[in-house]
Amino acid sequence: MEIAFVIITILVITVFLYFVFRGKNNKWKIPKEAFPTRWRIILSQEVAFYNALSAEEKKRFEFKIQEFLLNCKITGIETQVNITDKLLVASSAIIPIFAFDNWRYSNIYEVLVYPSAFNEKFETNGSDKFIAGMVGTGYMEGKMILSKQALQHGFKNESDKNNTAIHEFVHLIDKSDGATDGIPSLLLEKQYAIPWIDLINKKIDEVYEGKTDINPYGGTNRAEFFSVVSEYFFERPKLLADKHTELYKLLEEIFDQDMKSKKLRKHNVEIGRNTPCPCGSGKKFKHCCGKTQT
Ligand SMILES: [Zn+2]
Ligand SMILES: [Zn+2]
Repeated sequence: MEIAFVIITILVITVFLYFVFRGKNNKWKIPKEAFPTRWRIILSQEVAFYNALSAEEKKRFEFKIQEFLLNCKITGIETQVNITDKLLVASSAIIPIFAFDNWRYSNIYEVLVYPSAFNEKFETNGSDKFIAGMVGTGYMEGKMILSKQALQHGFKNESDKNNTAIHEFVHLIDKSDGATDGIPSLLLEKQYAIPWIDLINKKIDEVYEGKTDINPYGGTNRAEFFSVVSEYFFERPKLLADKHTELYKLLEEIFDQDMKSKKLRKHNVEIGRNTPCPCGSGKKFKHCCGKTQT
């Protein structure tokens, strides 16, 4: 009798765990509604990466953005987050893994947005506040914190090779194989692992010697190096390819994106009825997405 009870208990626990883990890993909700035109306009005005995509790629990007926002909560802490902020967070999540169609972030469910930088105790009012973003561990597992200022700056300034939100999502990608070590095993094909580690070590030495334009913070360790140069790769790909050809090539392998041939620019003009539609169809806005705008 007792043995039967034990067996049944084990079975119940196994089934329960199966559903919990299955739910965590691939049970992302799928968006069912059309992508709002207002969001499309915001992307075209704020996200250079989006503008560089073909009409078909834009559709895929939009779907992934919508999917991310459906499955990851974005919460303002002592600050309001509007839809533009949310779209910037989602873009930062999608840009690095855009080439990986089946990628779902299994290690995040909430992004906390703080008004500005914070210190190690998560205070935003001290004089020692210098953290602009972090991936949570321990009781903060599954969460990320971003400074709103840093988030917005990352997309506003297109030349300084900084994008805090992309930096943090690259840490999450790095972490998804179990170790935040600068080696994103899930993206990196095996034959590139050794060359990648060798190159990181060489480049970190250059950071120490002060003869590089890579943000010195990248010299902290391999994980920081990977995140720092990923910001560079997505924001100034042509410059990176020029100055650090080998590094550029390996990042192109890792992210599987030919960034240097992308035309990164934002739509600086207001979208009006007669301007080209931001979806990239080639039609006028009024004859395309603008038709359904309310
Ligand atoms: Zn970092
Ligand atoms: Zn359109």
